[in-house]
Amino acid sequence: MKKTKLSLKRDLKVEQKLYSLMQELFPICRSITGNGVRKTLRILKEEIDLKIINVPSGTKVFDWKIPNEWNIRDAYVKNSKGERIIDFHKSNLHILNYSIPIKKTISSHELKNHLYSLPEKPNSIPYVTSYYKKNWGFCVPHNSLKSFNDDAYKVHIDSTLKPGSLTYGEFLIKGKIKDEILISTYICHPSLCNDNLSGIVVTTILAKLLSKIETYYSYRFLFIPETIGAITWLSKNKKNLSKIKSGLVVTCVGGNGGFTYKKTRDNNSEIDKISIDVLKHTRKKFETRDFFPYGSDERQYSSPGIDLPIGVLMRTPYYEFKEYHTADDNLDSIKKFALNDSLIMLLKIILQIEKKKPSFNRNQKNETSKLKSEIYQNLNPYCEPQLGRRKLYRNISKSRLVDKKNSENMVELSICWILNFSDGLHSLKEISQKSNLPLKLLRKTAKLLIEKKLLKKIN
Ligand code: ZN
Repeated sequence: MKKTKLSLKRDLKVEQKLYSLMQELFPICRSITGNGVRKTLRILKEEIDLKIINVPSGTKVFDWKIPNEWNIRDAYVKNSKGERIIDFHKSNLHILNYSIPIKKTISSHELKNHLYSLPEKPNSIPYVTSYYKKNWGFCVPHNSLKSFNDDAYKVHIDSTLKPGSLTYGEFLIKGKIKDEILISTYICHPSLCNDNLSGIVVTTILAKLLSKIETYYSYRFLFIPETIGAITWLSKNKKNLSKIKSGLVVTCVGGNGGFTYKKTRDNNSEIDKISIDVLKHTRKKFETRDFFPYGSDERQYSSPGIDLPIGVLMRTPYYEFKEYHTADDNLDSIKKFALNDSLIMLLKIILQIEKKKPSFNRNQKNETSKLKSEIYQNLNPYCEPQLGRRKLYRNISKSRLVDKKNSENMVELSICWILNFSDGLHSLKEISQKSNLPLKLLRKTAKLLIEKKLLKKIN
């Protein structure tokens, strides 16, 4: 028999539980595929009855193909004295995530071509990935680069990259009605706490608590590798998406900062109103952000062909906290109270949804497109197309923080904006207003996307 209420005293003081779950998950080397993800999901399965799904490598998912599975046991660089000067077992961020296996002796010059560092954070090990371009490398603090001056180095990466599967977890709480609220979080980052072990542990305990009470809506929880996992899930469930009425991505909920709510694609859906209302009632400082078509998996859920109203609950947003994507985002940077506070905030939003029972009817899109000029249609509207394969995106990951001085970054941003809002309704001029990107740049990018057969002009 399910309870009908949760008690703040009995059920919701779970700081220690959230933190110890994070401690257990922290050492695991995760990636978008492989045993790290499976181990993570097995640990979560002790809390909630997760369904763990494996999708074979090579499976076509919209514009993408599930890559080969990556696993790693050991990796190091040894100097001429035989000392491990870079050691995977000290931090799994030392390895370029998805590095192919290698074992050889190389010069310091060659080694330096495979070292990744962040000049702007010179004392931190950065988190870098190369999922879709075969590569190998090590990540080190920028300040350590000058110490690599031996004649020869032994490098060994004991990894495998071969056909296997992509693994994700799914958990459904059946409510009175079949309409679903989607709560999504990503499980692919290695030893990084705020981004995104915080999202994983908070979402898990949220699901556990919610499964104890009767709900009106059904709630579907997804624990997926970022980007490719969301694309995989959407591709496999394309026929059933109409039952998903709304939802939230949960990420970066363990830091010191106040809450940030990122709105859904139309900036004014029911979930936006409810979440902002709940945040206002807490009387704590919070920020809202209008939708932007990059960031986490909300950008897949909000692609024009999918178009689900999914918001994001964060504290200090991804890209913006100082430890972001470096080894500094560790257990010391996490605030236990913040984890618990984030859990309570999510529960409050859900309980408000339960109370208000909104119909989640979508606003009818205005058919004013005939009056506008420069309207385009995204020819690949289901999730984002794989841009790296078309040489439209760097193959080495870097954040999509807006960097106006970097023209490559500006082109990538303009690609995201044009593809997301070229739904036959928004003109380039409107996209320019929404994005604050110059119309001239958008026109140039639109031309490029037409050449790549990702876009067509419709009036
Ligand atoms: Zn991240």
